Amino acid sequence: MANILIVDDSRTSRRILRSILEEDGHVIVGEATNGQEGFEQYMSLKPDIVTMDITMPVMTGVEALKKIIEADSNAKVVMVSAAGQQHNMLEAVQSGAADFISKPFDVDTIKNMVKKIVG
Ligand SMILES: [Mg+2]
Repeated sequence: MANILIVDDSRTSRRILRSILEEDGHVIVGEATNGQEGFEQYMSLKPDIVTMDITMPVMTGVEALKKIIEADSNAKVVMVSAAGQQHNMLEAVQSGAADFISKPFDVDTIKNMVKKIVG
């Protein structure tokens, strides 16, 4: 069981991710709709895993990843990508992202990602 923070500006994506993760026995400790809010919630909630959308208003997922890793180098931030974001993926890897999942969400891929991270 992992405590997970979901950061995504799409309500539909947050709802789908939440249902997949809760069905797998995990607890969603918070939801944020942009990178700045995600960073602030990370600092107060200290979740085991963050799922971080890339394209968001106010602050992108890659910027939020960098701020989180700067504050906590052990943070487990999983980037959520849509098609055509290879450049952002490379930057995220270099910035310390733990893993990647892509939209549309695949249930087994998400369950295995969490298992791999929390053991
Ligand atoms: Mg988005």
